Amino acid sequence: MTELTVAEAGPDRLMDALQRGALAILGPDRHTRGHTSIILLCAVMYAICCAAAAHAAAVGMMLPIGPQALTAVTFPAHLIFYVMVRSGVTRQWCDAGLMVLQNLYALLAISFAYVTLDPSERGMVLVLIALVIVFGMYTHTPRLSVIHGVLAMVLLGAAMGVLSSVDPDYYPPQLEMLRFGVMLGSLPVLIFTAYLISSWRKRLSTQRRELQQALDQVQQLATRDALTGLYNRRHMQEKLAYAAQRYQRYGERFTVALIDLDHFKRINDEHGHLVGDQALMAFASAASMVLRDTDTLARWGGEEFLFLMPNTSPQKAAIALDRVRDALVSVTVSEAAPQLRLQFSAGLALYRGLEGTDGTLERADQALYQAKSAGRHRSVVAAGPDQDG
Ligand code: GH3
Ligand code: MG
Ligand code: MG
Repeated sequence: MTELTVAEAGPDRLMDALQRGALAILGPDRHTRGHTSIILLCAVMYAICCAAAAHAAAVGMMLPIGPQALTAVTFPAHLIFYVMVRSGVTRQWCDAGLMVLQNLYALLAISFAYVTLDPSERGMVLVLIALVIVFGMYTHTPRLSVIHGVLAMVLLGAAMGVLSSVDPDYYPPQLEMLRFGVMLGSLPVLIFTAYLISSWRKRLSTQRRELQQALDQVQQLATRDALTGLYNRRHMQEKLAYAAQRYQRYGERFTVALIDLDHFKRINDEHGHLVGDQALMAFASAASMVLRDTDTLARWGGEEFLFLMPNTSPQKAAIALDRVRDALVSVTVSEAAPQLRLQFSAGLALYRGLEGTDGTLERADQALYQAKSAGRHRSVVAAGPDQDG
């Protein structure tokens, strides 16, 4: 039995250690991991290319300076890229993954390889340039894709022109002209394709952002009260149902407090509807101050509000409401009525499983009625039903 447990725990622990190791190397968040993976992948590709270049130099197809300089510069450069990205230094930069720098380095490295390769082998470098352009179309903006492509052509074109005039034996002008022609006939098509694909990517990400904003807005409209910004009745009903489910599953009790502003009609009549609206907003903001993260406050309708307080007894909830009352003493509702102060009555009830949320709300409503009858500006705790679910 014990052996089985150890055997089963082995792969799990190994996976855990591997996962932790990967996180330590690649970084804590998804974005950093994406960027560091690209840098490390490129470093591996460069290692293969440097090995190929060393072989080419050994068999006389490349000047020895080629692999030596490429190896000496590429790995320190990529170590610096990795440390900057992994440490989070670049996180706030617009190019957090240093993609522009990496692409620029790739172009320079390829141009350098071109210069040091044997005349008959130089053509293959054009394939690498194409690879850099294809890579850039998935990471660059449309404009940057074009700039990179044109820069690649300018760099290689300049190398071909200058070197064939300085050393026509090692860089035969006719061969260089031919390669330049091939480059001129193929790379612009690739650059244009890169431009189109990065434009689509850009448009797609803009649309996705706009869609997310629209969804957020719909969510806001569906769950919030337009005047006070508090949750609306529909959303509170969902919260109540959820709280009832948690009660069934974990026995987590909760208190509801039904709140009604005192003499609100009088406020409307004496100061106007606008001041009445300001009073509702003032109450919402004062009550939100005493709200804990786990509490929910909603506008239940008109000048009625509902507090939902998980893991709170009605007595503790009443203390929280007293804090709202204390806060309201110093709240100026409106400049138009500087003396006006808000008061409210509340009925509190503890949820007991069998009666359901409607039953609890009914008891809270009765308690509220008692608070009004007893003179307003107070909280009354409802008596519980006989049976306790
Ligand atoms: P009580 O102390 O017994 O609660 O008295 P009350 O005047 O507050 O009670 P009543 O229910 O008679 O009045 C509620 C008023 O709230 C009537 C209604 O016009 C007003 N009201 C409801 N919704 C709004 C609103 O969105 N804005 C404004 N300004 N007034 C509202
Ligand atoms: Mg009312
Ligand atoms: Mg009222």
